[in-house]
Amino acid sequence: MDDVAADPSHPRYQSLLLRHRLEQAEQQGLLAGSAMIAHGRGEAYDYLLGEQTIASAHLATLYAVDALKRASRPVLSLNGNAVALAGEALLKLAEHLDCPVEINIFYRTPERMKALLGRLEAIKSELNLEVEILGAEPNARIPGLKGPRAKCTQEGIIDADVILVPLEDGDRCEALVAMGKTVIVIDLNPLSRSAKMGSITIVDELTRVAQNMLELVQHEQIFEPESPYNNDENLAEALRHIVMRFNA
Ligand code: ATP
Ligand code: MG
Repeated sequence: MDDVAADPSHPRYQSLLLRHRLEQAEQQGLLAGSAMIAHGRGEAYDYLLGEQTIASAHLATLYAVDALKRASRPVLSLNGNAVALAGEALLKLAEHLDCPVEINIFYRTPERMKALLGRLEAIKSELNLEVEILGAEPNARIPGLKGPRAKCTQEGIIDADVILVPLEDGDRCEALVAMGKTVIVIDLNPLSRSAKMGSITIVDELTRVAQNMLELVQHEQIFEPESPYNNDENLAEALRHIVMRFNA
């Protein structure tokens, strides 16, 4: 990393750090060609949100962790950006939840799958984690999707009742909801199709969400919400937050 990106006092340190992680992941073959574009779109929304976990995102995270804890078969679905940015935290989260992770990528090639599996296995052994990693040998398809991006595993995504999909594409999110699953989306863009389709959408940056979830999952406290969760209201709150920041 160059000097600026290595200096935590730099005002754009976090942003530079995440970009650096993606640059490295790109060199290691973990990412699709469009990964940087997707990240850039996320960065733009994060700028508008003030690069912070806003109150409505925190609330959505509470509901999401509660749903994952209560699930009978939770699974964390990981794509290239998710592994590159938050692979460690997401594997730790899976261990706490005692659930598998499944690599589920839009642009599937044997090389990318091998690179992603290698990265996750390396994190697992370095941190001494007990987590099942699925996705290497898909044996099922997500109904309603065409092509390689429909491939998945029966014991992971198909049989899951609650599924965490960071940075998911809208189509696949819709297909998972149509299967009757509780779909937890992490997406900085409150206007994206994924955000609108999700059962619980956390409008926040993935690495912040992963840390927040890790802290919450270790609490034994029972979450007793005052009202049922309303995703449309939650997305509207995120948009209101953006407008209020610029009116202030
Ligand atoms: P749609 O959901 O409308 O179908 P899409 O998923 O095809 O759109 P992409 O640009 O491919 O759109 O997806 C990237 C999405 O992920 C964007 O909405 C972006 O805001 C979000 N995103 C990118 N990086 C992050 C991140 N680090 N944390 C949270 N969200 C992110
Ligand atoms: Mg999306």
